[in-house]
Amino acid sequence: MRRIAIVGGGQAGMPLALGLLDKGYDVTVATNRTPDDVKNGRVMSSQCMFDISLQFERDLGINFWEDKCPPVEGIGFTVPHPEKAGEKAITWRSRLDNYAQAVDQRIKMPYWLELFAARGGNLLIEDVGVAELERLAETHDLVILAGGKGEIVKLLERDASRSPYDKPQRALALTYVHGMLPTPEFSQVSFNLIPGVGEYFVFPSLTNSGDCHIMVFEGVPGGPMDQWGEARTPQEHLAYSKKIIDTYLPWEAERCRHIELTDENGILAGRFAPTVRKPVLTLPSGKIVFGLGDALVTNDPLTGQGSNNATKASKVYYDAILARGDKPYTAEWMNDTFEQFWKYGRHVVEWTNALLAPPEPHVLNVLGAAQQLPTLAHTVANAFNYPPVLAPWWHDAHACDTYIQSLMQEEVRAS
Ligand SMILES: Cc1cc2nc3c(=O)[nH]c(=O)nc-3n(C[C@H](O)[C@H](O)[C@H](O)COP(=O)(O)OP(=O)(O)OC[C@H]3O[C@@H](n4cnc5c(N)ncnc54)[C@H](O)[C@@H]3O)c2cc1C
Repeated sequence: MRRIAIVGGGQAGMPLALGLLDKGYDVTVATNRTPDDVKNGRVMSSQCMFDISLQFERDLGINFWEDKCPPVEGIGFTVPHPEKAGEKAITWRSRLDNYAQAVDQRIKMPYWLELFAARGGNLLIEDVGVAELERLAETHDLVILAGGKGEIVKLLERDASRSPYDKPQRALALTYVHGMLPTPEFSQVSFNLIPGVGEYFVFPSLTNSGDCHIMVFEGVPGGPMDQWGEARTPQEHLAYSKKIIDTYLPWEAERCRHIELTDENGILAGRFAPTVRKPVLTLPSGKIVFGLGDALVTNDPLTGQGSNNATKASKVYYDAILARGDKPYTAEWMNDTFEQFWKYGRHVVEWTNALLAPPEPHVLNVLGAAQQLPTLAHTVANAFNYPPVLAPWWHDAHACDTYIQSLMQEEVRAS
């Protein structure tokens, strides 16, 4: 029986741990927060997951909240008019082919951790450092480091060639609320891009106290959406959230007249630099450790892809471990396995990093054309499930124009 240790009981580590346990592997999860710590702690994410990622959880039989969590059925996109206050310059919405869902990680992770232990997994609650990694490497055939944004992952070398930014590009904030009005006809991620100020998106979710909405703020550093530090209490955080919406997005403010925080821990403010790291860590003893999830690819939440990436990487690693059979987990195998994921992951990273820069005219053109072209709106909306569909045209002004023209001609032919 092969022995696998996974450091980090999060969205990347737990599906892999539960999946391998189910296949008869001897699995250890070492994580630094107890299930109760996570359950009663602060929100860390908005974790909206699209169909391909949800499907891996379904395949593993760990999608315990599918019937309870409100679905996210579409994507809406709006840019406020730069001169006419209260008006929209661009607005469209389109349905997703399959719904997305955002189950609060404070519900999901404690349940998965307890299930893992109940099914015979070896659950260690410990803050893992180099000494603990050495111990795990001594006693396991493979050690996977899935420590998210924890300090420990900084042991993995930053890959400068894949990390164009070395500073945070957005001031991030989350506000979990009850009482927000739903969108008409179908639920959606309502994405608002306020040039020069930042982005605001919001969608339904399931939290400890039932259905809620998660408000996500992405402020340009130093700008008017970057004053979270002045909010001293959860209520002040809520008040600042409302102030931003009232100032820039009156159509969203209409939905927020009666919002209340879900709980005092339903808020978050922080920032981090999007970073890609090299997959293999060599310990002082010479033993090796393999990174996974945010530990290797920390993507800005702007495109809502981190949990999706973590799950998709988890699936690539799961398949690769099963396929490896009894052969040793060498550094070459680790690099190859990560590259297998990166063939997909790079599209997500390049798309997100491009959106963090001031919007290029051809991108605004695509987003504007989607108002007239339902096929384009549908493609962009469903790209959240599988971002590679946007490559390579999204990044190239000429290719965008050609693509829009071809869709227009199709539309004319069809009418
Ligand atoms: C504001 C915000 C909004 C987001 N919104 C979305 C979204 O809408 N959609 C989406 O797909 N993604 C979103 N994400 C990203 C998503 O939450 C992460 O990408 C995802 O949780 C990564 O999974 P992970 O398992 O790699 O890391 P995590 O889920 O962070 O798990 C890491 C685990 O490691 C543990 N750990 C850390 N250090 C140690 C240590 N030294 N020893 C032992 N254990 C340790 C932690 O306790 C934790 O259990 C968002 C992130 C943020 C910050």
